[in-house]
Amino acid sequence: MSSELQLIHSEVLECTKCELHKSRTKAVPGEGSHDARIIFVGEGPGQNEDEQGRPFVGAAGKFLTELIESIGLKRSNVFITNIVKCRPPNNRAPRKSEVEACNPYLRSQIRLINPRIVCALGTPAITTLMGDEYSASRHHGKPLTKGEVTILPMYHPAAALYDASLKETIFHDFQLLKQMLENTETLYPSTPKSSEPSGSKQNLEKWA
Ligand code: URA
Ligand code: SF4
Repeated sequence: MSSELQLIHSEVLECTKCELHKSRTKAVPGEGSHDARIIFVGEGPGQNEDEQGRPFVGAAGKFLTELIESIGLKRSNVFITNIVKCRPPNNRAPRKSEVEACNPYLRSQIRLINPRIVCALGTPAITTLMGDEYSASRHHGKPLTKGEVTILPMYHPAAALYDASLKETIFHDFQLLKQMLENTETLYPSTPKSSEPSGSKQNLEKWA
């Protein structure tokens, strides 16, 4: 399982399937736990991510880390990636053709990690995962279950970072995410109930 994810990782690093490969410094496949119960999907690498080859390491990343920690988790408990793995020049929005070319990598990552919840951060990730009729402003905090996976749309942390009301909204939606994980835990317990107190932070971390 893990080795298949590593294979995708290597393929992404050498990928030339769309124009974005020409201007990238480093491709950014994603990082985190291969057994994660949550995958966060953003729009695409920015300048810092392109330089370091890691997702969400700039200002938005710092805020995403704060949000993850606000529900008792760590970055290493979850998996973090984007709908395109290479930085669009000048941070322009990724084109539909680029998103389509890159989508098989994201689909494989989701299939191999098999999370309970996929968190779509911002409208580009939301439309990619849920369909063109969805958006952050209208659908944030409203989960949609597709087969085994539940997709939870949210505002992008970069949008929420400098807007106090959106910031409050995204913290609120993270509390919903926490609740959903705890419900998932009661639906799919990993160990006999008697051996673990339910709803504890320790439990939640295990299921992230
Ligand atoms: N914004 C994103 O959408 N993805 C990143 O990796 C960083 C910032
Ligand atoms: Fe390949 Fe995706 Fe990078 Fe395009 S964005 S070159 S499809 S890895």
